[in-house]
Amino acid sequence: MSPPDRTPLEHIQEELAALEARGLGRRMRQISGPQAAELNVDGRPVINFSSNNYLGFADHPALRAVARAAMESDGFGAGASRLIVGNLAPHRALESRIAEWKGTDAALLFNSGYQANIGILSALLGPDDAVYSDQLNHASLIDGARLSRARIHVFPHRDLTALRDALRVGHAFRRRLVMTDSIFSMDGDRAPLPELVALAREHDALTLVDDAHAVGVLGEAGIGLCAGLPVDLQMGTLGKALGGFGAYVAGARPFIELLLQRARSFVFTTALPSPVAAFAGAAIDLTASPEGADRRARLANHCARFQAGLRALGLPTPAEPSHIVPIVVGGARQTMALSEALLAAGVFAQGIRPPTVPEGTSRLRFALMATHTDAHIDAALGAIATLRAEIPG
Ligand code: PMP
Repeated sequence: MSPPDRTPLEHIQEELAALEARGLGRRMRQISGPQAAELNVDGRPVINFSSNNYLGFADHPALRAVARAAMESDGFGAGASRLIVGNLAPHRALESRIAEWKGTDAALLFNSGYQANIGILSALLGPDDAVYSDQLNHASLIDGARLSRARIHVFPHRDLTALRDALRVGHAFRRRLVMTDSIFSMDGDRAPLPELVALAREHDALTLVDDAHAVGVLGEAGIGLCAGLPVDLQMGTLGKALGGFGAYVAGARPFIELLLQRARSFVFTTALPSPVAAFAGAAIDLTASPEGADRRARLANHCARFQAGLRALGLPTPAEPSHIVPIVVGGARQTMALSEALLAAGVFAQGIRPPTVPEGTSRLRFALMATHTDAHIDAALGAIATLRAEIPG
Protein backbone atom coordinates (compact mmCIF):
# COMPACT_ATOMS: atom_id res chain seq x y z
CA MET A 1 0.00 0.00 0.00
CA SER A 2 1.35 3.45 -0.86
CA PRO A 3 1.54 6.00 1.97
CA PRO A 4 -1.51 8.28 2.03
CA ASP A 5 0.49 11.46 1.30
CA ARG A 6 1.55 10.16 -2.13
CA THR A 7 -0.37 8.91 -5.10
CA PRO A 8 0.40 5.35 -6.32
CA LEU A 9 2.19 6.88 -9.31
CA GLU A 10 4.39 9.07 -7.09
CA HIS A 11 5.18 6.05 -4.98
CA ILE A 12 6.29 4.11 -8.07
CA GLN A 13 8.43 7.05 -9.19
CA GLU A 14 10.17 6.96 -5.81
CA GLU A 15 10.81 3.26 -6.23
CA LEU A 16 12.40 3.89 -9.62
CA ALA A 17 14.47 6.77 -8.23
CA ALA A 18 15.71 4.52 -5.42
CA LEU A 19 16.88 1.94 -7.97
CA GLU A 20 18.76 4.64 -9.87
CA ALA A 21 20.29 5.94 -6.64
CA ARG A 22 21.71 2.47 -5.94
CA GLY A 23 23.20 2.23 -9.44
CA LEU A 24 20.72 -0.51 -10.31
CA GLY A 25 18.56 1.22 -12.94
CA ARG A 26 18.36 -0.78 -16.15
CA ARG A 27 17.79 0.53 -19.64
CA MET A 28 17.43 -1.03 -23.04
CA ARG A 29 20.06 -0.17 -25.60
CA GLN A 30 19.03 0.17 -29.21
CA ILE A 31 20.50 -2.63 -31.29
CA SER A 32 20.36 -2.67 -35.05
CA GLY A 33 21.43 -5.25 -37.59
CA PRO A 34 21.46 -9.02 -37.25
CA GLN A 35 22.81 -10.68 -34.10
CA ALA A 36 26.39 -10.90 -35.34
CA ALA A 37 29.88 -10.52 -33.91
CA GLU A 38 29.76 -6.88 -34.94
CA LEU A 39 26.63 -4.82 -34.53
CA ASN A 40 25.32 -1.35 -33.85
CA VAL A 41 24.62 -0.43 -30.25
CA ASP A 42 22.91 2.91 -29.79
CA GLY A 43 24.03 3.81 -33.31
CA ARG A 44 27.68 2.95 -32.72
CA PRO A 45 29.47 0.02 -34.42
CA VAL A 46 30.93 -2.30 -31.78
CA ILE A 47 32.21 -5.82 -31.29
CA ASN A 48 29.48 -7.82 -29.62
CA PHE A 49 30.51 -9.70 -26.47
CA SER A 50 27.05 -9.81 -24.93
CA SER A 51 25.15 -12.31 -27.04
CA ASN A 52 24.26 -15.92 -26.27
CA ASN A 53 24.31 -16.60 -30.03
CA TYR A 54 27.43 -18.64 -29.34
CA LEU A 55 27.60 -20.45 -32.69
CA GLY A 56 26.43 -17.53 -34.82
CA PHE A 57 23.29 -19.43 -35.88
CA ALA A 58 20.86 -16.54 -35.30
CA ASP A 59 21.61 -15.06 -38.72
CA HIS A 60 22.75 -18.24 -40.49
CA PRO A 61 21.63 -18.12 -44.16
CA ALA A 62 20.54 -21.79 -44.33
CA LEU A 63 18.49 -21.47 -41.14
CA ARG A 64 16.90 -18.25 -42.35
CA ALA A 65 15.88 -20.14 -45.48
CA VAL A 66 14.27 -22.93 -43.45
CA ALA A 67 12.27 -20.41 -41.40
CA ARG A 68 11.25 -18.57 -44.57
CA ALA A 69 10.04 -21.81 -46.20
CA ALA A 70 8.02 -22.73 -43.10
CA MET A 71 6.43 -19.30 -43.14
CA GLU A 72 5.52 -19.72 -46.79
CA SER A 73 3.77 -23.01 -46.07
CA ASP A 74 2.23 -22.39 -42.62
CA GLY A 75 2.12 -18.63 -42.20
CA PHE A 76 3.54 -17.30 -38.94
CA GLY A 77 1.41 -17.46 -35.78
CA ALA A 78 0.17 -20.80 -34.42
CA GLY A 79 -3.21 -19.25 -33.61
CA ALA A 80 -3.84 -21.05 -30.32
CA SER A 81 -2.23 -23.18 -27.65
CA ARG A 82 -0.90 -26.65 -28.48
CA LEU A 83 -3.88 -28.23 -26.73
CA ILE A 84 -6.44 -26.28 -28.77
CA VAL A 85 -5.65 -25.83 -32.46
CA GLY A 86 -1.97 -24.81 -32.34
CA ASN A 87 -0.29 -28.23 -32.50
CA LEU A 88 1.35 -28.15 -35.93
CA ALA A 89 3.57 -30.62 -37.75
CA PRO A 90 6.82 -28.65 -37.06
CA HIS A 91 6.13 -28.80 -33.30
CA ARG A 92 5.73 -32.58 -33.34
CA ALA A 93 8.73 -33.00 -35.63
CA LEU A 94 10.90 -30.85 -33.38
CA GLU A 95 9.87 -32.72 -30.23
CA SER A 96 10.70 -36.06 -31.87
CA ARG A 97 14.03 -34.65 -33.06
CA ILE A 98 14.89 -33.40 -29.57
CA ALA A 99 13.94 -36.72 -27.91
CA GLU A 100 16.07 -38.59 -30.45
CA TRP A 101 18.96 -36.14 -29.97
CA LYS A 102 18.82 -36.43 -26.20
CA GLY A 103 18.12 -40.15 -26.14
CA THR A 104 14.94 -39.74 -24.08
CA ASP A 105 11.43 -41.15 -24.52
CA ALA A 106 9.89 -37.80 -25.18
CA ALA A 107 10.28 -34.02 -25.18
CA LEU A 108 7.96 -31.05 -24.84
CA LEU A 109 8.38 -27.54 -26.20
CA PHE A 110 7.93 -24.40 -24.16
CA ASN A 111 7.85 -20.83 -25.42
CA SER A 112 10.98 -19.84 -23.52
CA GLY A 113 13.43 -21.20 -21.02
CA TYR A 114 11.87 -19.04 -18.34
CA GLN A 115 8.45 -20.51 -19.04
CA ALA A 116 9.86 -24.03 -19.16
CA ASN A 117 11.44 -23.79 -15.73
CA ILE A 118 8.46 -22.23 -14.00
CA GLY A 119 6.16 -24.73 -15.71
CA ILE A 120 8.23 -27.81 -14.87
CA LEU A 121 8.70 -26.94 -11.21
CA SER A 122 5.17 -25.79 -10.49
CA ALA A 123 3.68 -28.87 -12.21
CA LEU A 124 5.97 -31.39 -10.58
CA LEU A 125 6.24 -30.07 -7.03
CA GLY A 126 3.80 -28.87 -4.39
CA PRO A 127 3.76 -27.91 -0.72
CA ASP A 128 4.57 -31.50 0.39
CA ASP A 129 7.77 -31.57 -1.65
CA ALA A 130 11.32 -30.24 -1.39
CA VAL A 131 13.68 -28.71 -3.92
CA TYR A 132 17.47 -28.48 -3.54
CA SER A 133 18.92 -25.59 -5.50
CA ASP A 134 22.48 -24.41 -6.22
CA GLN A 135 22.98 -20.92 -4.88
CA LEU A 136 23.83 -19.52 -8.34
CA ASN A 137 20.99 -21.10 -10.30
CA HIS A 138 19.20 -19.03 -12.91
CA ALA A 139 16.27 -16.85 -11.84
CA SER A 140 13.77 -19.00 -13.75
CA LEU A 141 14.64 -22.04 -11.60
CA ILE A 142 14.35 -19.92 -8.47
CA ASP A 143 11.00 -18.48 -9.53
CA GLY A 144 9.70 -21.94 -10.50
CA ALA A 145 10.65 -23.30 -7.11
CA ARG A 146 8.88 -20.42 -5.37
CA LEU A 147 5.79 -20.86 -7.51
CA SER A 148 5.64 -24.57 -6.68
CA ARG A 149 5.36 -23.80 -2.93
CA ALA A 150 7.77 -26.67 -2.22
CA ARG A 151 10.28 -26.31 0.62
CA ILE A 152 13.39 -24.68 -0.89
CA HIS A 153 16.86 -25.66 0.29
CA VAL A 154 19.64 -23.57 -1.26
CA PHE A 155 23.07 -25.23 -1.15
CA PRO A 156 26.37 -23.35 -1.56
CA HIS A 157 27.64 -23.16 -5.14
CA ARG A 158 28.73 -26.60 -6.43
CA ASP A 159 29.03 -27.89 -2.87
CA LEU A 160 28.25 -31.61 -2.97
CA THR A 161 29.03 -32.13 0.70
CA ALA A 162 26.41 -29.58 1.68
CA LEU A 163 23.96 -31.15 -0.76
CA ARG A 164 24.61 -34.62 0.69
CA ASP A 165 24.03 -33.32 4.21
CA ALA A 166 20.76 -31.74 3.15
CA LEU A 167 19.56 -34.86 1.32
CA ARG A 168 20.37 -37.09 4.29
CA VAL A 169 17.57 -35.49 6.25
CA GLY A 170 14.09 -34.63 5.07
CA HIS A 171 12.78 -38.01 3.98
CA ALA A 172 9.29 -36.98 5.04
CA PHE A 173 8.74 -35.08 1.80
CA ARG A 174 6.52 -36.64 -0.88
CA ARG A 175 8.92 -35.82 -3.71
CA ARG A 176 12.40 -34.31 -3.74
CA LEU A 177 14.17 -32.68 -6.65
CA VAL A 178 17.75 -31.43 -7.08
CA MET A 179 18.15 -28.68 -9.66
CA THR A 180 21.16 -26.99 -11.18
CA ASP A 181 22.39 -25.06 -14.19
CA SER A 182 24.95 -27.16 -16.10
CA ILE A 183 26.95 -24.07 -17.11
CA PHE A 184 26.25 -21.17 -14.75
CA SER A 185 25.01 -18.28 -16.82
CA MET A 186 26.86 -15.46 -15.08
CA ASP A 187 30.00 -17.34 -13.99
CA GLY A 188 30.68 -19.68 -16.89
CA ASP A 189 31.70 -22.53 -14.59
CA ARG A 190 30.23 -26.03 -14.57
CA ALA A 191 28.14 -28.00 -12.11
CA PRO A 192 29.72 -31.29 -11.00
CA LEU A 193 26.97 -33.10 -12.90
CA PRO A 194 28.00 -36.79 -12.74
CA GLU A 195 28.51 -36.63 -8.98
CA LEU A 196 25.44 -34.49 -8.38
CA VAL A 197 23.17 -36.80 -10.38
CA ALA A 198 24.56 -39.89 -8.62
CA LEU A 199 24.03 -38.26 -5.24
CA ALA A 200 20.43 -37.36 -6.05
CA ARG A 201 19.69 -40.92 -7.18
CA GLU A 202 21.28 -42.35 -4.07
CA HIS A 203 18.74 -40.35 -2.09
CA ASP A 204 15.79 -41.05 -4.41
CA ALA A 205 15.60 -37.43 -5.47
CA LEU A 206 14.72 -36.34 -9.01
CA THR A 207 17.09 -34.16 -11.05
CA LEU A 208 16.37 -31.15 -13.22
CA VAL A 209 19.34 -29.79 -15.18
CA ASP A 210 19.17 -26.45 -16.98
CA ASP A 211 21.49 -26.99 -19.94
CA ALA A 212 20.70 -23.61 -21.53
CA HIS A 213 24.31 -22.48 -22.01
CA ALA A 214 25.76 -25.87 -22.93
CA VAL A 215 23.38 -27.08 -25.62
CA GLY A 216 24.93 -26.79 -29.08
CA VAL A 217 28.30 -25.84 -27.60
CA LEU A 218 29.47 -28.55 -25.21
CA GLY A 219 29.35 -32.32 -25.04
CA GLU A 220 29.87 -34.71 -27.94
CA ALA A 221 28.62 -33.01 -31.13
CA GLY A 222 27.18 -30.18 -29.05
CA ILE A 223 24.55 -32.38 -27.41
CA GLY A 224 24.99 -30.65 -24.05
CA LEU A 225 26.29 -31.80 -20.71
CA CYS A 226 23.55 -34.27 -19.71
CA ALA A 227 24.54 -36.88 -22.30
CA GLY A 228 25.07 -40.30 -20.76
CA LEU A 229 23.80 -39.21 -17.36
CA PRO A 230 20.53 -40.42 -15.83
CA VAL A 231 19.10 -36.90 -15.53
CA ASP A 232 15.33 -37.03 -15.07
CA LEU A 233 14.50 -33.70 -16.69
CA GLN A 234 16.88 -32.05 -19.13
CA MET A 235 15.81 -28.56 -19.97
CA GLY A 236 17.46 -26.45 -22.65
CA THR A 237 16.79 -23.36 -24.68
CA LEU A 238 16.47 -22.88 -28.42
CA GLY A 239 17.36 -19.18 -28.19
CA LYS A 240 21.05 -19.27 -27.29
CA ALA A 241 23.55 -21.40 -29.26
CA LEU A 242 20.73 -22.69 -31.46
CA GLY A 243 20.04 -19.12 -32.51
CA GLY A 244 16.25 -19.26 -32.40
CA PHE A 245 13.64 -18.95 -29.68
CA GLY A 246 11.85 -21.22 -27.23
CA ALA A 247 12.88 -24.13 -25.04
CA TYR A 248 12.34 -27.81 -24.41
CA VAL A 249 12.32 -30.36 -21.66
CA ALA A 250 13.34 -33.94 -22.44
CA GLY A 251 12.77 -36.97 -20.23
CA ALA A 252 10.77 -40.12 -19.59
CA ARG A 253 7.23 -40.14 -20.95
CA PRO A 254 5.37 -39.88 -17.61
CA PHE A 255 7.21 -36.62 -16.82
CA ILE A 256 6.41 -35.20 -20.23
CA GLU A 257 2.78 -36.33 -19.98
CA LEU A 258 2.44 -34.71 -16.56
CA LEU A 259 3.85 -31.45 -17.92
CA LEU A 260 1.45 -31.55 -20.85
CA GLN A 261 -1.42 -31.96 -18.37
CA ARG A 262 -0.32 -29.61 -15.63
CA ALA A 263 2.40 -27.12 -16.62
CA ARG A 264 0.42 -23.91 -16.73
CA SER A 265 3.04 -22.10 -18.82
CA PHE A 266 2.53 -24.83 -21.45
CA VAL A 267 -1.24 -25.21 -21.25
CA PHE A 268 -2.27 -21.58 -21.13
CA THR A 269 -0.15 -20.04 -23.86
CA THR A 270 -0.11 -19.78 -27.64
CA ALA A 271 2.16 -22.31 -29.35
CA LEU A 272 5.47 -21.24 -30.88
CA PRO A 273 5.19 -19.93 -34.43
CA SER A 274 5.76 -22.72 -36.94
CA PRO A 275 8.86 -21.06 -38.55
CA VAL A 276 10.43 -20.87 -35.07
CA ALA A 277 10.01 -24.63 -34.61
CA ALA A 278 11.29 -25.38 -38.11
CA PHE A 279 14.34 -23.14 -37.53
CA ALA A 280 15.21 -24.94 -34.29
CA GLY A 281 15.02 -28.40 -35.89
CA ALA A 282 17.40 -27.31 -38.64
CA ALA A 283 19.69 -25.67 -36.05
CA ILE A 284 19.95 -28.96 -34.13
CA ASP A 285 20.87 -30.74 -37.36
CA LEU A 286 23.50 -28.07 -38.00
CA THR A 287 25.10 -28.55 -34.57
CA ALA A 288 25.62 -32.24 -35.46
CA SER A 289 27.11 -31.41 -38.91
CA PRO A 290 30.77 -30.81 -39.81
CA GLU A 291 29.97 -27.09 -39.89
CA GLY A 292 28.72 -27.33 -36.31
CA ALA A 293 31.94 -29.08 -35.29
CA ASP A 294 33.98 -26.44 -37.08
CA ARG A 295 32.16 -23.63 -35.30
CA ARG A 296 32.63 -25.30 -31.91
CA ALA A 297 36.34 -25.68 -32.62
CA ARG A 298 36.61 -21.99 -33.49
CA LEU A 299 34.72 -21.06 -30.34
CA ALA A 300 37.01 -23.27 -28.24
CA ASN A 301 40.05 -21.51 -29.74
CA HIS A 302 38.57 -18.12 -28.87
CA CYS A 303 37.88 -19.29 -25.30
CA ALA A 304 41.50 -20.39 -24.89
CA ARG A 305 42.87 -17.19 -26.46
CA PHE A 306 40.67 -14.90 -24.39
CA GLN A 307 41.29 -16.68 -21.10
CA ALA A 308 45.05 -16.80 -21.71
CA GLY A 309 44.95 -13.06 -22.42
CA LEU A 310 43.06 -12.36 -19.20
CA ARG A 311 45.49 -14.45 -17.17
CA ALA A 312 48.36 -12.49 -18.72
CA LEU A 313 46.65 -9.37 -17.35
CA GLY A 314 46.52 -11.01 -13.91
CA LEU A 315 42.76 -11.55 -14.02
CA PRO A 316 41.14 -14.77 -12.74
CA THR A 317 39.28 -16.98 -15.23
CA PRO A 318 36.91 -19.96 -14.87
CA ALA A 319 38.71 -23.23 -14.04
CA GLU A 320 37.54 -24.85 -17.29
CA PRO A 321 37.75 -23.03 -20.63
CA SER A 322 34.39 -21.36 -21.04
CA HIS A 323 32.49 -19.27 -23.57
CA ILE A 324 31.13 -17.22 -20.65
CA VAL A 325 33.84 -15.27 -18.89
CA PRO A 326 33.03 -12.85 -16.08
CA ILE A 327 35.34 -10.09 -14.90
CA VAL A 328 34.11 -9.46 -11.38
CA VAL A 329 34.37 -5.78 -10.46
CA GLY A 330 32.31 -5.58 -7.26
CA GLY A 331 30.26 -2.40 -7.16
CA ALA A 332 27.34 -1.79 -9.50
CA ARG A 333 28.30 1.77 -10.50
CA GLN A 334 31.93 0.90 -11.06
CA THR A 335 30.87 -2.03 -13.25
CA MET A 336 28.59 0.10 -15.38
CA ALA A 337 31.29 2.78 -15.74
CA LEU A 338 33.71 0.13 -17.00
CA SER A 339 31.09 -1.25 -19.39
CA GLU A 340 30.59 2.28 -20.78
CA ALA A 341 34.34 2.79 -21.13
CA LEU A 342 34.63 -0.49 -23.06
CA LEU A 343 31.71 0.53 -25.24
CA ALA A 344 33.45 3.81 -26.04
CA ALA A 345 36.43 1.68 -27.13
CA GLY A 346 34.14 -0.34 -29.43
CA VAL A 347 33.70 -3.40 -27.20
CA PHE A 348 30.25 -4.23 -25.85
CA ALA A 349 30.30 -6.35 -22.67
CA GLN A 350 27.16 -5.88 -20.62
CA GLY A 351 27.57 -4.98 -16.95
CA ILE A 352 25.68 -7.45 -14.74
CA ARG A 353 24.37 -6.30 -11.37
CA PRO A 354 22.12 -7.55 -8.55
CA PRO A 355 19.65 -9.19 -8.49
CA THR A 356 21.12 -11.09 -11.46
CA VAL A 357 24.28 -11.71 -9.41
CA PRO A 358 24.82 -11.51 -5.63
CA GLU A 359 25.40 -8.12 -4.00
CA GLY A 360 29.03 -6.96 -4.26
CA THR A 361 29.80 -9.21 -7.26
CA SER A 362 28.73 -6.97 -10.14
CA ARG A 363 30.69 -7.89 -13.22
CA LEU A 364 31.37 -7.51 -16.89
CA ARG A 365 30.11 -10.63 -18.65
CA PHE A 366 31.97 -11.57 -21.83
CA ALA A 367 30.20 -14.08 -24.06
CA LEU A 368 32.32 -15.46 -26.89
CA MET A 369 31.02 -16.50 -30.29
CA ALA A 370 32.33 -18.79 -33.03
CA THR A 371 31.85 -15.89 -35.43
CA HIS A 372 34.32 -13.69 -33.59
CA THR A 373 37.73 -13.43 -35.22
CA ASP A 374 41.09 -13.55 -33.44
CA ALA A 375 41.25 -9.81 -34.09
CA HIS A 376 37.97 -9.31 -32.21
CA ILE A 377 39.31 -11.25 -29.23
CA ASP A 378 42.55 -9.27 -29.27
CA ALA A 379 40.63 -6.00 -29.51
CA ALA A 380 38.68 -6.93 -26.38
CA LEU A 381 41.88 -7.85 -24.53
CA GLY A 382 43.47 -4.58 -25.64
CA ALA A 383 40.50 -2.56 -24.36
CA ILE A 384 40.54 -4.46 -21.05
CA ALA A 385 44.29 -3.84 -20.73
CA THR A 386 43.81 -0.07 -21.00
CA LEU A 387 41.28 -0.24 -18.13
CA ARG A 388 43.22 -2.79 -16.08
CA ALA A 389 44.11 -0.38 -13.29
CA GLU A 390 40.39 0.16 -12.60
CA ILE A 391 39.63 -3.57 -12.32
CA PRO A 392 40.30 -5.18 -8.92
CA GLY A 393 42.23 -8.44 -8.61
N1 PMP B 1 18.11 -20.78 -17.91
C1 PMP B 1 19.28 -20.17 -17.98
C2 PMP B 1 20.46 -20.78 -17.29
C3 PMP B 1 19.41 -18.97 -18.69
O1 PMP B 1 20.58 -18.32 -18.74
C4 PMP B 1 18.27 -18.43 -19.33
C5 PMP B 1 18.32 -17.17 -20.19
N2 PMP B 1 19.07 -16.15 -19.70
C6 PMP B 1 17.06 -19.10 -19.21
C7 PMP B 1 17.02 -20.27 -18.50
C8 PMP B 1 15.83 -18.55 -19.82
O2 PMP B 1 15.74 -18.89 -21.17
P1 PMP B 1 14.91 -17.99 -22.16
O3 PMP B 1 15.76 -16.82 -22.51
O4 PMP B 1 14.63 -18.89 -23.31
O5 PMP B 1 13.66 -17.59 -21.43
